Amino acid sequence: MEPGAQSAEAVPGRALTYTDLLDGRRLTPMFKQYVELKEQVPDSVLLFRMGDFFEVFFEDAVTASKVLDLTLTARDKLGKHPIPMAGVPHRSVRGHVRKLVQRGFKVALADQVEDPKQARGLVRRAITEIVTPGLVLEPDELDARAANHLVAVHFAAAGVVGVAYMDVSTGEFACTELDDEAALAAELDRLDAAEIVVSDELLEDPRVATLRAGDVRLAEVPDHAFSRDTAVADLCEMFEVHDLRGFGLEAGPGVTAAGAILYYLRASRVDTLGHVRRLRPYRLDGFMVLDEATRRNLELFRTMVDGRRKGSLVGLLDRAVTGMGSRRIRRWIGAPLLDPEAIDARLEAVDLLARNEELRSALRRRLELVHDIERLNGKVQSGRAHARDLIALRRSLEQAPAVDVLLDRDDARGLAPFSPLPDAAELQADIAATLADDPPLSLSDGGLIRRGYHAELDELMDLGKEGKGALARLEADERRRTGIASLKVRYNRVFGWYIEVTKANLAAVPDNYIRKQTLANAERYYTPELKEFEAKVLGAQERRGTLEMELFVQLRDRVAGQAAMLGELAERLAAIDALAAFAELAVRHDYVRPVVDDGDVLDLRGSRHPVLEQMRLEERFVPNDILLDATENQLLIVSGPNMAGKSTVMRQAALVVLLAQAGCFVPATEARIGVVDRIFTRVGASDNIARGQSTFMVEMAETAAILHHATGRSLCILDEIGRGTSTFDGLAIAWAVAEYIADTLGCRTMFATHYHELSELASTRPQVRNVNIAVSELGERVIFLRRLRDGGASRSYGIQVAKLAGLPEAVLERARQVLANLETDAADEIGRPKLARGRGADGPAPGQLSLFADRTSVLKDELLRLDVDQLTPLEALNLLADLRAKAERL
Ligand code: ADP
Ligand code: MG
Repeated sequence: MEPGAQSAEAVPGRALTYTDLLDGRRLTPMFKQYVELKEQVPDSVLLFRMGDFFEVFFEDAVTASKVLDLTLTARDKLGKHPIPMAGVPHRSVRGHVRKLVQRGFKVALADQVEDPKQARGLVRRAITEIVTPGLVLEPDELDARAANHLVAVHFAAAGVVGVAYMDVSTGEFACTELDDEAALAAELDRLDAAEIVVSDELLEDPRVATLRAGDVRLAEVPDHAFSRDTAVADLCEMFEVHDLRGFGLEAGPGVTAAGAILYYLRASRVDTLGHVRRLRPYRLDGFMVLDEATRRNLELFRTMVDGRRKGSLVGLLDRAVTGMGSRRIRRWIGAPLLDPEAIDARLEAVDLLARNEELRSALRRRLELVHDIERLNGKVQSGRAHARDLIALRRSLEQAPAVDVLLDRDDARGLAPFSPLPDAAELQADIAATLADDPPLSLSDGGLIRRGYHAELDELMDLGKEGKGALARLEADERRRTGIASLKVRYNRVFGWYIEVTKANLAAVPDNYIRKQTLANAERYYTPELKEFEAKVLGAQERRGTLEMELFVQLRDRVAGQAAMLGELAERLAAIDALAAFAELAVRHDYVRPVVDDGDVLDLRGSRHPVLEQMRLEERFVPNDILLDATENQLLIVSGPNMAGKSTVMRQAALVVLLAQAGCFVPATEARIGVVDRIFTRVGASDNIARGQSTFMVEMAETAAILHHATGRSLCILDEIGRGTSTFDGLAIAWAVAEYIADTLGCRTMFATHYHELSELASTRPQVRNVNIAVSELGERVIFLRRLRDGGASRSYGIQVAKLAGLPEAVLERARQVLANLETDAADEIGRPKLARGRGADGPAPGQLSLFADRTSVLKDELLRLDVDQLTPLEALNLLADLRAKAERL
């Protein structure tokens, strides 16, 4: 039987899959070539160049047609079977590659590597590029304001995790070791990994399964890619050193992970890494830790509601004028500093730039003219830069001397760490002397090189010019000689130069004209003289194209040799841009320079929520004073009715701390901040609208993480923890967590809760304080004062809020009766607060449900927790009726 004749043959007309093709069929030479290439990149969508198109076949065609919205055709057939096919014009291939990559596919381009006109038989093709989310080199295909990190994770022995990352577009390359697997999620989140390289032997491992849970692409490499010895050897070779210790690197799991990145790059044919200057070891213990939940809750990089940058903290802060500056701000916000001195160095620079409006705007005006040197550098290294990229680079370099002059001024002393900039004058002059001012996109058609740069090229250019003149002369001469006024000397690509004479004038054609082509109403000729001219001009043009290309590539190589200088320059300009942006923000929004020290006080006067205060609210934003310390104000129990502003004031405290430690001024009139090592924010499941899928389990897991990781220097923001479950458990958990924080952790904490019972903690512990957000009553209406003040909330305003929400008067009346009953009930209590009992010998142990078994308090609690603003009037009505029924049964 013919090989492959069984299964595939069974359904005539069925579209062929790639596997069918491998089933030993007789292939056309082209498909043989296709299979050979596809074998090299089995996990990629292969785009196969055919003439002016990139074609996709088999399953790839089905995928591509869906993702790219292409028509699926079946032009070719193999036997009776149509081969699915789709195609895109080669000119627009980049856009399609980007789309596929954004959807998480690995894409390989198989291009023609010889001129089809010169090819004998089948045109040779080869894989010329492999693109994945972590391997994007084209700046146009990336978000200018965000880094693009390819990350490798190595699970070493004893729970140690090696992490390395590279931004291929900028050449940043760094590695670290985490002692704790739990820290991995936070680090990957901080890096906002575009793609994660892991060993293919770990695919079933639960630790990798967790990585897979996000929508990040996992790149599998063979386990031997994670080899310490190979990593050390490869890195030494790459950086031309004998020993990695010069970089401050030990051959540990971090270095092994870095080796896996190099392996993956090689396997993906990214071999132009001259802009990667070093492997930088980094430690997370110099930075504030922000876990994933905290980043999300504080909306640092995107909002919770729609996941967009607009409305996030970075959206507000990013006033940088270059992509490099924007990326720097992101990095600073993602990893605030811990060392007061380092923080103060940034604050000092911001202060200077904030006070000196003239210097700041002069710097920013210069920076506005600076392109993305970091990514242009990467493009040059990978041999993809075209002439316009080098012009952009030249224009950027032209700004450096002026920036240097500004940095050198007497009134710019605080910027000394950034000056002087590396000297780029020579490189700039080189590009300027070599390249024409406005070169075309194409590298092969000439027009790249400046006149006067190269003697032979100048001659060739002259020849081209003379050619035009000579041709005009020739046309005039021939007209005179033949007396044919309409005679034309013209050129086209197929026939070259020709003399055209209309049919009416054929009689006047001289003998030495040789016929070339006949048209409907004209004849085309050439003469030996024209032929000779053509050879000369065309030869000159061709030679010119080749020569210009050569000269351009030489220039590009010279630029590539300056990778280190360019990297250094980019580094400094990015920092200056970020600092100037912070200063701009401070001036625009009236921020103040915070005092950051090693103490344990957090004292904010007149503080505001940075993002909310800029939004159009119905009311003006009301500033607040917030005081936390290690003695009398360690744990603040924040109460107040729904919508009073509890969540806001707590987030505000966290954001101010974060801004300060990132080196930014803060929205307050005065701020003193004892360094915070970690910020934890947790939002109770039911309050966390943005995460519809959030369960009580998630809430508890996140809370547990705080209790395990918070230190005495941490800042905890707990917002309605325990609400995700029924009253008893919820209160029990909230109570136990608060008690643990107060008694054991001792970290500065704000805890907003609807459980009024928690306020009883304050009466037994000096470090716990009750605060509430002031509201005032005007008759039965509540006025939100938005002001944080001492003391627990005296009563809940659920019913007033219900009134505001428009509940019928009868329902409200009944609710008031019920509440009155409950309050009488509560007032019957005597002596020590009920909930504080249990620590001593006179009651059950804390956390025990019997503690909360007072049935009336259940009802009261439910009533107080009425989320009127989230209920429809009908739901609220039902709820109140339900409460009434329960109350009557008591
Ligand atoms: P809570 O957590 O107490 O229910 P939120 O903090 O969610 O209340 O605040 C509810 C709304 O009140 C916010 O969306 C905001 O519009 C407004 N708000 C909060 N704090 C202030 C303030 N200090 N000044 C002005 N408006 C505020
Ligand atoms: Mg809230």
